[in-house]
Amino acid sequence: MTMQEERTGSSPGAAADVRVRVPRRQKSWGSKVRWARHAVQGVLVAVVGWQAVGHVTSGEESAEAWCPLGGFEGAWTMLTTGRTVAHVHTSSLVLAATVLVLALVGRGFFCGWLCPLGTLQEMVHKAGRAVTNRVPPLRRLRRRLERGAGLERWRRIDGVLRWGRWLVLAWAIIGAAVTGTMVFRVADPWIALLMVAQFELSLAFVVLVATLVLALFIQRPFCRYACPLGAVLSLAGKLSPIAVQREAAACLGCDLCNQACPMAIPVNTRTRVNDTSCNGCLECLAACPSQNGLAVTLAIPTLRARRSAPATEPDLQAATASEIMR
Ligand code: SF4
Ligand code: SF4
Repeated sequence: MTMQEERTGSSPGAAADVRVRVPRRQKSWGSKVRWARHAVQGVLVAVVGWQAVGHVTSGEESAEAWCPLGGFEGAWTMLTTGRTVAHVHTSSLVLAATVLVLALVGRGFFCGWLCPLGTLQEMVHKAGRAVTNRVPPLRRLRRRLERGAGLERWRRIDGVLRWGRWLVLAWAIIGAAVTGTMVFRVADPWIALLMVAQFELSLAFVVLVATLVLALFIQRPFCRYACPLGAVLSLAGKLSPIAVQREAAACLGCDLCNQACPMAIPVNTRTRVNDTSCNGCLECLAACPSQNGLAVTLAIPTLRARRSAPATEPDLQAATASEIMR
């Protein structure tokens, strides 16, 4: 569908304003994208649940066999020192190669659509919002925190904390190469999740619980601040030709994409979202009320984020109240 231009002007000689009528996207489109993602996530959570229970009842493969990060640690150590890392299974190497190819092709697809730990954090966050939505004082507090004066300060803190996953990645990779063991394993919530049915109190279990408690208030805290696998995949994803693209001329400036983004990316300031934080969840697309505002497109990858100003005339075709409140 093309955008229609309406020319306005008080006299024939006057310079005419060009008002752009932006076609709206069907609301059902957004829910189809969401449901497709949730269906994939549900299947993966069920597989991991089955694996966690099976691990206890039958004592089959160890939890490390399902860890793609172990594959990266093993491959890096082999390449740099020629040594092997204890407990790295062949399946970890296969998983690492698979998620790497997924990142090179589909950017953050693994994190946004497949990772069960990410899904679990999303579920907890949604439950937290459902509770605060029903308790007026908590709802008011949450809205004040989301829109209040502390927002700018929180953004700065958030920006600093995001360096955490690079530090954790350095610890995991360098530690494995130096010691020949998976040093991150002791604090890895992914391993704790796979062994959760054993109820073993460990540092990894504490990290898992802390992650889920934080997820009540912050979207995907482990993904944002601590996930070394997400850090590796986001680097590979920089080479992916796929990304969310914003068409500035069709943007309503409504800010709904920013509000929907679980990784707090200011989508309405981007021309092409190639931020390392983007997990490809497409929540921004699902939320965008403009038919051509956001789309997934193919392009030659660039390492720098392409930025542009948000729409300058947000009132031209302002989002409706119901769009803003959903
Ligand atoms: S959701 Fe974002 S991209 Fe879509 S119209 Fe609103 S500000 Fe523009
Ligand atoms: S920018 Fe869009 S696709 Fe990327 S994480 Fe945010 S909502 Fe998901």
